[in-house]
Amino acid sequence: MKVVAATKNKHKVEEINAIIGPFGFEVVSREEAGIPDIEIEEDGTTFEENSLKKAMEIHKMCGLPTIADDSGLMVDVLDGAPGVYSSRFAGEEGNDAKNNEKLLRLLADVPWEKRRGKFVSVITMVFSPDDVLVARGECYGHILYSALGENGFGYDPLFAPDGYEESFGQLPKEVKNQISHRARALQALQKQLRDRVG
Ligand code: IMP
Repeated sequence: MKVVAATKNKHKVEEINAIIGPFGFEVVSREEAGIPDIEIEEDGTTFEENSLKKAMEIHKMCGLPTIADDSGLMVDVLDGAPGVYSSRFAGEEGNDAKNNEKLLRLLADVPWEKRRGKFVSVITMVFSPDDVLVARGECYGHILYSALGENGFGYDPLFAPDGYEESFGQLPKEVKNQISHRARALQALQKQLRDRVG
């Protein structure tokens, strides 16, 4: 079954493909589905709201089943920030490097045991406006003292998932794809898809 990925982030499309591809879904990008290159404003205050908005808008444009992810990092000592603002943490003109610098600055005096946080991903799959599946996945870990590794994107070099000493920036992508927030949300979605088919 063809599914359009609402995200323009190539890393996310790859991760979604790697995880649900083997289950018979062909994940195609917005570009491949011929969808105009418009920005969808992420103005919700929860991952759920933003994820639904993105999936619904793209679905309206193509009529195909659409999958959207909204995700981010929530840091305990920052009361859950950057949360839904993860990609814009250092401002609208920011980027991954600036976001990471800001996070390190804010946590400069925070000891290891308090450098706790989680990645969250909410995946929404829209078959039609009345037929929507929502799945959430979380991945807990520590925020490191400096960026390590070149793999992945975003806050990956600063995040060591529980059970590992390396950051997501150092771990092979096969490992990240088994334990990440997005992997867990997609596994939850898979279960819902299986229950649907019976
Ligand atoms: P979104 O594209 O609005 O969902 O924003 C997600 C933002 O959260 C990204 O720009 C990253 O900063 C961060 N993020 C989400 N998932 C990951 C991940 O798997 N690794 C690292 N950063 C992530």
